[in-house]
Amino acid sequence: MTAWARFAAKVSKVPHPNGCHMWIGSLTSTGYGKFRDENGRLVMAHRWIWEYARGPIPDGMVIDHFAGRCRRRDCVRLSHLAVVTPGENNRRGWAIRRFRQAQQLRPASPLRRP
Ligand SMILES: [Zn+2]
Repeated sequence: MTAWARFAAKVSKVPHPNGCHMWIGSLTSTGYGKFRDENGRLVMAHRWIWEYARGPIPDGMVIDHFAGRCRRRDCVRLSHLAVVTPGENNRRGWAIRRFRQAQQLRPASPLRRP
């Protein structure tokens, strides 16, 4: 049985009023769906489906359930999920400062042979 087939078997087939795809497998203590991936690692279901469909989640990014649309941690519908940075504004500030520092530290000109 493929990982995808095992995943699909743990998603509720009952239509949800909010359009959610509810996880009916086991949950973490914080309420997220738990899933064992193809390598036997225990991962969060909503993160697994994101990576399965869209590719790896960049370092430092988190998957969030759209505020207002859903907010259900046990929902695994792709269109209810988004990649966000924790503290977006804060990180943007850091990026700008790092860029300015890098400009100041950059050598005035590369060494060139005459
Ligand atoms: Zn949802």
